[in-house]
Amino acid sequence: MPAPMTLTEKILARAAGRDSLAADETVWLDVDVLMTHDVCGPGTIGIFKQHFGEHAKVWDREKIVIIPDHYIFTKDAMANRNVDVLRAFAKEQDLPYYYDVGTERYKGVCHIAMPEEGHTRPGEVLLGTDSHTCTAGAFGQFATGIGNTDAAFTMGTGKTWLKVPQTMRFVFEGKLPPYLMAKDLILAVIGDIGVDGATYRAMQFDGDGVFALGIEERMTLCNMAIEAGGKNGVIAPDKVTLDYVNDRGRRSGSKPYTVMAADPGAKYMFEKVYDVTKMEPVIAKPHSPDNKAKVSEVKGTKLDRAYIGSCTGGKLTDFRAAAGILRGKTVRIDTFVVPATTEVAAGLDTEMIEGVSLRSIFLAAGAKIGDASCAACLGGPSDTFGRLNTPISCISTTNRNFPGRMGHKEAKVYLASPLTVAASALTGLISDPRDAMP
Ligand code: SF4
Repeated sequence: MPAPMTLTEKILARAAGRDSLAADETVWLDVDVLMTHDVCGPGTIGIFKQHFGEHAKVWDREKIVIIPDHYIFTKDAMANRNVDVLRAFAKEQDLPYYYDVGTERYKGVCHIAMPEEGHTRPGEVLLGTDSHTCTAGAFGQFATGIGNTDAAFTMGTGKTWLKVPQTMRFVFEGKLPPYLMAKDLILAVIGDIGVDGATYRAMQFDGDGVFALGIEERMTLCNMAIEAGGKNGVIAPDKVTLDYVNDRGRRSGSKPYTVMAADPGAKYMFEKVYDVTKMEPVIAKPHSPDNKAKVSEVKGTKLDRAYIGSCTGGKLTDFRAAAGILRGKTVRIDTFVVPATTEVAAGLDTEMIEGVSLRSIFLAAGAKIGDASCAACLGGPSDTFGRLNTPISCISTTNRNFPGRMGHKEAKVYLASPLTVAASALTGLISDPRDAMP
């Protein structure tokens, strides 16, 4: 009898063609999907051509997804050139899943576009040239970020070489209070274990508090596994997952997949249980995602800007939460709203709160709404929407607050949930959403 395996071990065993494997073994894997974007795609393509030949073909054109998303709405010539390289490569290789800028296929942030377009499936191995590829662990798959050289190798062979991570298990018990979101839960975890607390480990999220979350909130949890150094974040698939995957899968050919769960008796190298009913809104102070405080401890800190966007905080769930607080009120500081994808942007017009669209609520409150992309989450060229071009203080729904991350090296970035960011936008001070909720 093989030893019981965690969910991550089971997924990797399937990809390795093995009945069983154990943490710390090094294995060859068959990769199901390789994703790249405009920042790392050109480098990956260059290495692929260098090693496999100028006229080499990718290993499987159905398994490569290219999504330009980072530096899109800019006059920066080098950023525009990167997209030209992707476009030429997609044409040369006849890739069916290239989501080009300036066309109806343009999507926006890759980690949200991937599931929307049906490229995330339980039981699969997804590699991406972006550290937040771990977002897709929310669909019960192994998803992790890799560098350009590894990606070029996978592009040519469909394989990768990987050490099986040990698994840490985080259990959230209880019913989430309305003033908390997945962002509070993951900031609490990162604050507790530190930015290196899960280095090269799988972070499995479990418990009734997790399975009560919608799919977008589960994505937020897995998205920030990398902020604790995690190799991947993962949540076992349930009906919520499968309903979403089966619906969206039709957009990319309804490919078959295997639903897996951890074996009873699987060994976890670490386990921590949180009672969500006793938790408070959490914030990460400058300049690290593990610089944790309760919002109540830093309440009143002066701010210059609020930013609601990115793969972590730019989904419809995030905007519904923020709009619920901003409705009928006016922001006191510059507030930038950036939908992660064009689909989310369309949702700003169709999603209503008591008959008023989210877009109308944001505009009436005085917020500025940008086009779907990463925008200022990664700083970008100086003409990027929402970029911190001066040393100001910003509260943001994004996932990183290292110096310079959103632009100016001396800017201060506080990471928080969309509820906390919206409440703070109304006062210009760090504010507790419990004081602002309708
Ligand atoms: S939104 Fe931010 S964290 Fe997400 S992929 Fe873009 S730059 Fe990275």
